[in-house]
Amino acid sequence: MENLEKYYNTIIDEITNKAVEVFNNSYNLDIKKESIIENLENEISNQPPIKEMNKLSINDTCIAIKRNKTTCKNKCTPGHVYCGTHLRSEGKLPLPEHIKMVANKYKYEIIANTVLLGNEWISQNKLPLDYNINTKWPLKIESTSNSVNSYILFFTEFSGYFGAGVFVIHYISSDKKESYYMATHYVEVNKYGEDLQSNMYAKVSLKSIDSLKDKPIYKKIISFLGEYGIPYDINDINKRISDITENNPVVMYNNIINVINSHYNIMYFSYDSYINSNINVE
Ligand SMILES: [Zn+2]
Repeated sequence: MENLEKYYNTIIDEITNKAVEVFNNSYNLDIKKESIIENLENEISNQPPIKEMNKLSINDTCIAIKRNKTTCKNKCTPGHVYCGTHLRSEGKLPLPEHIKMVANKYKYEIIANTVLLGNEWISQNKLPLDYNINTKWPLKIESTSNSVNSYILFFTEFSGYFGAGVFVIHYISSDKKESYYMATHYVEVNKYGEDLQSNMYAKVSLKSIDSLKDKPIYKKIISFLGEYGIPYDINDINKRISDITENNPVVMYNNIINVINSHYNIMYFSYDSYINSNINVE
């Protein structure tokens, strides 16, 4: 074990040396390796504290109510709160209502908070970008259509508007036949800016769930999403959606990833707009 650690440290050291050398030569700079490593370590320790999940609760029976008003006794499809028969009911409710319903049904002690981020940030950034129009952040939180909405679903240890959680897209077609939830990113939200209220922003930093597969946080994200039956596997979501418009899950996912990537994985919302968005505190 110790040998392995030494081995990795040596490799990290060599790579950093090489990278700094190349960087300094290319840009005619004099950056010190030590300050980069120090910065990296600071960045890592600045993450909000994330508690381990206490226990993994198993959603055993389907949440659906049958036509005769009795509850469905079928087992849930893994990662969902519906059985195979009722899976088409997934995504029929706005996310906050879904979260409340699930927490009540499975008797969770704490209901996870949701904050609405609207869809203005998507429609404002539709690709191909018009290069003459720069998106002016921060954006207000507005919804230009009722079909698509985005939310932050906070881990239960964060009871307010700031902290860490998961970014979730909700789509429901206008005829209400097609619908889905889709978790795409891990998010951290911080207050940002000067103390004057007018210059304050909600800074939303995002990392795609896919890119975290080897990180410890991945397990927490997946079990958290499982507790609320929010899917994150895009191909799996796509299988049961026959929508071939721009609201198709794969097209939507790529669009979302493009918008967020093109803003270096950070979005700014006006603080007031963010704070006045719906939060489902009980
Ligand atoms: Zn069912």
